[in-house]
Amino acid sequence: MSDNCIFCKIVSGTVPSTKIYEDNDVIAFNDIRPSASVHFLIVPKLHIDSLASCENEHQALLGKMLLLAPKLAKQQGLAGFKTLINTGVEGGQEVFHIHVHVMGGGDKSRNN
Ligand code: 5GP
Ligand code: ZN
Repeated sequence: MSDNCIFCKIVSGTVPSTKIYEDNDVIAFNDIRPSASVHFLIVPKLHIDSLASCENEHQALLGKMLLLAPKLAKQQGLAGFKTLINTGVEGGQEVFHIHVHVMGGGDKSRNN
């Protein structure tokens, strides 16, 4: 848990989210500003700043997050999907708690 991290607050339940999946290690919830008809985030419960902060010890967790993407996408009715991991400010990362975006079902216009 990292103070003032919005995703840690979602993990702990302090901030509400539309949860679509949860187990001991990860949570998945709908993005608050979706850029596709289906747009959810797969987030580890462990606070890790970004993909660039990951170490060998996180290998299994990263693999688990990626393997969840097709399963949850299918549950959400997607036949195909895009995945995205923004890394660093210059990589477009806004929330510094690592997450995988999963998007599909057609783009939505987004103003930012
Ligand atoms: P990033 O740019 O860091 O890869 O993506 C962060 C994502 O988190 C954005 O798509 C943004 O809409 C989403 N997001 C930010 N704050 C919240 C929140 O409080 N709840 C939910 N559900 N999504 C959030
Ligand atoms: Zn966090």
